[in-house]
Amino acid sequence: MEENKRTDVNTLGEFGLILHLTKDFNSVNRSTIKAIGDDSAVIDIDNDRAMCISTDMLVEGIHFDLIYTPLKHLGYKSVVVNLSDICAMNAIPQHITVSIAISSKYSVEALDELYSGIKLACQLYNVDLVGGDTTSSPRGMTISVTAVGIAKKSEIAYRSGAKPGDIICATGDFGAAYIGLQVLEREKQLFLDNPDIKPELEEHSYAVSRFLKPEARLDAVQYFHQNDIIPTSMIDVSDGLASEVMHICKESGVGAYLEEGKVAINPEVEEQSIKFGINPIVAALNGGEDYELLFTVDPKDLEKIRFMPEIFIIGEITNPEDGIMLHTTGGHIHPLKAQGWVHFEN
Ligand code: ADP
Ligand code: MG
Repeated sequence: MEENKRTDVNTLGEFGLILHLTKDFNSVNRSTIKAIGDDSAVIDIDNDRAMCISTDMLVEGIHFDLIYTPLKHLGYKSVVVNLSDICAMNAIPQHITVSIAISSKYSVEALDELYSGIKLACQLYNVDLVGGDTTSSPRGMTISVTAVGIAKKSEIAYRSGAKPGDIICATGDFGAAYIGLQVLEREKQLFLDNPDIKPELEEHSYAVSRFLKPEARLDAVQYFHQNDIIPTSMIDVSDGLASEVMHICKESGVGAYLEEGKVAINPEVEEQSIKFGINPIVAALNGGEDYELLFTVDPKDLEKIRFMPEIFIIGEITNPEDGIMLHTTGGHIHPLKAQGWVHFEN
């Protein structure tokens, strides 16, 4: 008798698993402009416009820990991480649906808190909550949000459009959310060891708030639209800057030359990182959950990009045979390594 084959999901990794599960699906509808593989799917609307659709799920114990995550922040973050994927297409978010699976440990008051965060995000980003699903869970909470945005087809920024010579840009600073998480984990441990200890969160407020209450860079998308800039490629930084650079390079079939010293790191985060014994640049390149935008522009747009608020020019797209290289502040040039978030646990 032939033995039943059983392959552990961890052997493929997150991206390998997605590829494995979806490789035999071919789109049959002409309206499907982009299916799997970018920050959102792109669906044709009419001659000019397309709809971008993205979904993300947050699972208690994997993506959030309610010991240090206020439910209002969780609601806010669960919306924002999806809006970030819509922004990464250079589209304007318009609608969300919210699905929750909850165990009986959650009261109506607790869910009101969650929804107050969802509402705040809807108000600040001008999106409408248009549906969802509510169900029970044997343990803990799972939140799945789907976001829909609209863009002109000609303005959509895919991961695949970067060309050699393009300038690599990033909004904002990196590594803060990762360090914020380390602070929260440390305070949690101290609290579990001695519940009388008062958490020391105030002095780390920037890093902690970047983890608990991220923002989507809709302001950058609005700047692009107001200044007639179409990034040649774009991605949002959820899994770590290095990993996202690699996604752009892989999808665009190009190489990259990155200047380590040009990646912005908040001074407080830098200091805290060193205290944790973590090289700040490692946190910035591999930390993840920054929800900043990484994008490339044609050099002809350099003058327009230069005046964009909170923009950092961090490198240049190169030929594929040049590889993906990091020029370190110590003057060395070596291949960029990426270690994104690992979601699967034993
Ligand atoms: P992001 O980090 O931008 O949210 P992901 O890495 O989660 O993107 O997903 C990469 C691509 O794979 C996206 O196009 C996403 O829609 C698709 N995807 C992820 N999981 C599945 C799945 N289980 N079935 C089909 N497509 C999936
Ligand atoms: Mg994304």
